[in-house]
Amino acid sequence: MDLKMQLLPESGRKPLPDSNNLGFGIHFSDHMFVMNYHEDKGWHAPRIIPYDNFSLNPASVCLHYGQAIFEGLKAFRGVDGKIRLFRPEENMKRFNSSAWRMCMPRIDERDLLESIKQLIRVDARWVPEAKGTSLYIRPFMVATEAFLGVRPAKEYLLCTILSPVGAYYSEGFNPVKIYVTDKYVRAAPGGVGEAKTAGNYAASLMASEEAKKLGFTQVLWLDAVKRRFVEEVGTMNIFFLFDDALVTPALSGSILAGITRDSVLHLARSWGLNVEERPISIDEVIKRAENGDLKECFGTGTAAVVSPVGSLFYKGNSYTVNGGKTGPLAQRLFDELTSLQYGEQEDVYGWIETLD
Ligand SMILES: *Cc1c(COP(=O)(O)O)cnc(C)c1O
Repeated sequence: MDLKMQLLPESGRKPLPDSNNLGFGIHFSDHMFVMNYHEDKGWHAPRIIPYDNFSLNPASVCLHYGQAIFEGLKAFRGVDGKIRLFRPEENMKRFNSSAWRMCMPRIDERDLLESIKQLIRVDARWVPEAKGTSLYIRPFMVATEAFLGVRPAKEYLLCTILSPVGAYYSEGFNPVKIYVTDKYVRAAPGGVGEAKTAGNYAASLMASEEAKKLGFTQVLWLDAVKRRFVEEVGTMNIFFLFDDALVTPALSGSILAGITRDSVLHLARSWGLNVEERPISIDEVIKRAENGDLKECFGTGTAAVVSPVGSLFYKGNSYTVNGGKTGPLAQRLFDELTSLQYGEQEDVYGWIETLD
């Protein structure tokens, strides 16, 4: 890839935000990566340029019909000062499978990863140092062709932006209260639940707003057909530790194949736990919560790594999980994954890519 760089002079670069108060997705680094696609030319003009607004034709397909996908991964500043990425090839692969599902062009996965690394090198001072903080990496692709007919666009824009983000748990784990919704669904069989595509998140807003109004942090989604089988929690995959197994819903097509999910499955198996990927009915969860078989419940995703669930609210009843406290398995998984990400232990899994 013939990557062109147009960098800001030192004097034009932004002051860094307060690393104790970063929040999520609020601050953006000095530069961004951009590349264009045209049906006749393929991908062209890869460049790193100053972070700035786009100019888009108002008829751009992405603004009307949502042909838009994204990824989310993080760069971590290790205890040795080195910058690490966690399983980035998996994000590149998933970007291409999302692109495929939305009839968007594929991209060379090695080129995309190389462009991301180059962007991070340019903006390395934006990788924060405090434990738990990181640089969130957001590659995305949108259809830019100016055309109001409904068919796959012939022109696209790929862009990567970087955002320094705070520690998800600055005051320790805080198990969340979850509302199980049987009114709304996130994704249906044959739909696009498996793709990281913009519309899935717009479609989820109503349910989470209603849950928040009732005092809950997030919703637990059930399957779209029977409203019976557990799918995901908010924008995370979900795990249940029953007394005989660690269980997570099998990838059915309507569930996002999380990289954290896959890592948790791998770790749990390597620790000798009995692990099952299978349909889990909400009735089973409730029954096991009532008879004491439900030991832990937690969500997994890049942003939080592991997010313990303290209680589930379903059909007017509240079910407390592990006394509303973080369980030992959630804690162990969180500690193992973060100590790899921050270079505190040797990467025996081959999951870490260090930036030179
Ligand atoms: C991104 C995402 C996840 C988590 O995926 P990770 O690769 O673990 O970050 C889970 N569910 C949904 C709906 C997502 O968008």
